[in-house]
Amino acid sequence: MKKFFAAAAAGIVILLCCGCQNARPERQQRVDTAMGTVVQLNIYTADRESRATEEILVLLRRLEEQELSRRLDTSEIWAVNEAAGSEEGSVLSPELSEILEDCLDVWRQSQGAFDVTMGPVVKLWDIDGWAAGENTGTFALPEEEALSRALKCCGSEKLQLEGTQLFMPEGMQLDLGAVGKGIALERILAYLEQDDSITGASVSVGGSVLTYGQKPDGSCWKIGIADPTGASDNIGILSLEGQWCVSTSGDYERYVELDGVRYHHIIDPVTGYPADSGVSGVTVLTRDGFLSDALSTACFILGSERGMELAAEYGAEVLFVKKDGSVVMSSGMARYVTLQQ
Ligand code: AMP
Ligand code: MG
Repeated sequence: MKKFFAAAAAGIVILLCCGCQNARPERQQRVDTAMGTVVQLNIYTADRESRATEEILVLLRRLEEQELSRRLDTSEIWAVNEAAGSEEGSVLSPELSEILEDCLDVWRQSQGAFDVTMGPVVKLWDIDGWAAGENTGTFALPEEEALSRALKCCGSEKLQLEGTQLFMPEGMQLDLGAVGKGIALERILAYLEQDDSITGASVSVGGSVLTYGQKPDGSCWKIGIADPTGASDNIGILSLEGQWCVSTSGDYERYVELDGVRYHHIIDPVTGYPADSGVSGVTVLTRDGFLSDALSTACFILGSERGMELAAEYGAEVLFVKKDGSVVMSSGMARYVTLQQ
């Protein structure tokens, strides 16, 4: 009798499992805000009761509040910046020390163009205060003297990272704005992978996009590459299968205008001014969220020639839209992109 019940129970479990595998995945969609940007979620799940979209938004808000924000006094980055100049330094979480190691790697490979210690200069320009495309009317150029003082506080060579122990000189400020959305994609990917009912997803966090798994109809994920000139919606469409990360950095994303000159949010560490390398937009395609975001920022500063070399070092594909509207891309990128006429 006991055996019968055991077998029957096993049968029920198997039937239930078959039931969930056979249920056709349905799309859950949501558009909301987190990490100071727009988040678009498209999740295909066989679980009718799935709370995936809510849970991902909670995960992103926690990432901002507890780990990455430079402005909230609840975050680890805030505490690390507060400890700049102290003798004891900071003991970083394993997650943050790994992120910082990865940032230092891109800093070295980009010969200093990508530098997460640009906090003091980013603050001086008040980049966080700019809203996309808005001229606040109160913007003034930073004074030369203040800029050179702020620049002296920057430079990853001044960081001392020993395991999880970090020492920063006084005045130094970390700013992970260039990789926050990419880190978010990594966390979302880990969430999707632990939920067997999720068969596919595309998620956009402020323009950095993660694709995962498949759509029920088997068609490709289609990701538009924004036209920096604004003349059309997209300059091209990426067609992707399975898991990818796509990040774009552009001079049209966050900027202010003064006397007809556009000042955007990606700073050249050599000058302390918005980078002017002849490109308007850079899109990087790779499997890794952190890298796609870090490299798109770095490639924007380096320009198309050096940026192409940097992307190749990491095995990433890259597409540049130059200021004159022309497009250059890595040879591998051509496999995925269809340029619009
Ligand atoms: P993204 O939009 O990913 O290209 O990142 C731009 C953001 O990265 C800016 O808003 C700043 O917070 C930060 N940032 C600006 N210049 C640099 C730089 N040279 N290296 C690293 N981060 C930077
Ligand atoms: Mg970036």
